[in-house]
Amino acid sequence: MQPKKPNQSNKPPRQPGRQNGQARQPQGDNNNNGGGSRVSRGAAIRAQRRAQDDANSKLNQYVDLPSADEKPRANFIDDSASLKIIGLGGMDGGGSKNMILVEYQNDAVIMDCGNDLGVDLPGINYGICDTAYLESIRHKLRAYLITHGHLDHIGGLPHIVPKFPAPIYGSKFSIGRVEEIFGNFGLPMPEGFELKTITMNENTHERLKVGPFFVELIRVTHSIPGSTIIVLDTPVGRIINTGDFRLDPNPLDHERTDTERLEQLGNDGVLALLSESTTTERPGRTPSESTIEQSFIDIMNQAPGRIFIGLFSTNMNRVQMIVNAAVHHNKKVAMDGRSMVSTLEMAVRHGFMKVPKGTFVPIAATATMKDSDLVVVCTGSQGEPNSAMMKMSSGDHRHIKLKEQDTVILSSSPIPYSGNDAKIRSMVDDLFKKGVHVFRHETREIDGVGPLHVSGHASIDEYKDMIRMTKPKFFIPIYGDYTAKRQHIEIAVEEGIPRKNTLNADNGEVISLTPDKMEVIGEVPHGTILVDQTGGLVSGVVIKDRLMLAEEGLVAVVLTVDKRTGQLATSPDIISRGFIYMRDNEELMNTFRIELKRAVAQRFKRIDLDRFKAELRDHITHFLFEHTGGSPIVIPVVNVISGGSKPNGPSNSQKPRDNDISNKPEQGTQAPQVSAPPTPEQIAADQQKRFEEMRSRLLGQDARTD
Ligand SMILES: [Zn+2]
Repeated sequence: MQPKKPNQSNKPPRQPGRQNGQARQPQGDNNNNGGGSRVSRGAAIRAQRRAQDDANSKLNQYVDLPSADEKPRANFIDDSASLKIIGLGGMDGGGSKNMILVEYQNDAVIMDCGNDLGVDLPGINYGICDTAYLESIRHKLRAYLITHGHLDHIGGLPHIVPKFPAPIYGSKFSIGRVEEIFGNFGLPMPEGFELKTITMNENTHERLKVGPFFVELIRVTHSIPGSTIIVLDTPVGRIINTGDFRLDPNPLDHERTDTERLEQLGNDGVLALLSESTTTERPGRTPSESTIEQSFIDIMNQAPGRIFIGLFSTNMNRVQMIVNAAVHHNKKVAMDGRSMVSTLEMAVRHGFMKVPKGTFVPIAATATMKDSDLVVVCTGSQGEPNSAMMKMSSGDHRHIKLKEQDTVILSSSPIPYSGNDAKIRSMVDDLFKKGVHVFRHETREIDGVGPLHVSGHASIDEYKDMIRMTKPKFFIPIYGDYTAKRQHIEIAVEEGIPRKNTLNADNGEVISLTPDKMEVIGEVPHGTILVDQTGGLVSGVVIKDRLMLAEEGLVAVVLTVDKRTGQLATSPDIISRGFIYMRDNEELMNTFRIELKRAVAQRFKRIDLDRFKAELRDHITHFLFEHTGGSPIVIPVVNVISGGSKPNGPSNSQKPRDNDISNKPEQGTQAPQVSAPPTPEQIAADQQKRFEEMRSRLLGQDARTD
């Protein structure tokens, strides 16, 4: 998913520096040798502030940075006998770290605990829910209840459960997925942590007691096996969380939604329905998964060579369908994509897949097989970088080189509002350039084939059915953005729910529920915690710096000043990263050095060191803005030496009294000779390798699926 809000860059065109498409060049040096100022100091400061504001606004789409004038975030305390429902995540968009807390006096459960793979910030892999509020109620937490095994419903568990331990309840497949993601998690679990899972049977209506609550899971159709609706009987009344769903009358695994049980519960009385809202603007009904079966058989009948099918890695029913079609055509099946193979292994182990012996072949063995014998099922239908399909399209795949006669089927549609369309389009470009024929769901009519994908989510008539079956008193749309949830409320009102009994709540809002009243009574801390490729958490402050560095670059200036004379002891070291290439700007650099020398001579002896550095930073910012129109991050480093004999060598031959930066900058032009860790290249190489391993493990997992 793309940023939650449009990226608002209020930056005017840069001036007086670069023109579009032009390299950054020194400005006005012909008539202005660092002397008279053509650009006001205010303009330079405004430019810097603008860069900061831009970084803040991008970051604030995900994270609230505490500002200086902000009061500390208060936790919410209310021990009245109302039920409290708090969406810690997922109330602002489908696929975004779904997590709903239900709290009653001294007990609480969490429904779903997902991650958000759509966070578009540098070096960030995904986001999880801010758990600050859980700190204050950790003693109340009794269980995690999982609707289904997509990452936007379970991906937060390996981060959050070890910090706030409680057993995880789910269907057999969901628990299989939970164990899978804990098993594949990159970081070690804390000492003494033990994963506790409780498998519930979604077919028998078994009810388990959890604190003062009773939990039941009900079978529902979606795009992953073992999807369930959570029924939570609380002292205040019954609430139902649908999880992601559609009402497929003819699912491939014949496991239809348990509508009888839903109607039964509706007749018994449901206080509140929390219903998923991904595609509430789609009229009619979502076609059955079984409608695509014939399309695959038809394509396999005609395809002259190998067949490659890209789909979401956890859609095991569709994999089963492809296996069936392949077996029918006497073809072998190879799987590619780490996440898909991992889920397949789990599904086979738990008996969710029926695969005749000898059907699967390893991807490495496919090179020697006859083309017409082979079907490859793989990840990458959303154009994800490093996915199997992407590597094939770019020719970087280890075992597969695509050729004419090959057929590629993309059995998915771009995830709505994800921005994946362009990525898929460019991958399809590359596939066509290789001469293969690409079948896409969108162009099925041109190709004369049937549907190749159906959504895993409901359409309007199914959302209506859910409300009709459960007959809730109160209605809370969940797992969708404001607009989708608003439309869901319109559907509910049309179905006879009084508008005053509906609520379009935001993340963090505390919904209080009694048998006759629903209202928002407060707000708890909420937001996004950012996770990098290693699984480590990253502070928003770090990301703000990264955003600013990405926009404007960095200039560090290392000065060695003789305390006695108040003059520069050596020529200043200037380091530029991502700002300008210094070798192309020698004239500017010379002017800059002269300016630095002058600034030190004028001011160093007159003011204390901290003030000197602050002034120096302003001065450099102004100088660079005036000459280039750019506003990089400026880091002045001042080493003060006691004087005496004038040093010729670099600053680290002296004892620095003051040093701003502890890390040696990357190797490159004009790197200063400050003390450095022994082998930064080695550390960087190690880190890079680890990142890549983590990344390939994480990528290709279904962030969310349609
Ligand atoms: Zn889902």
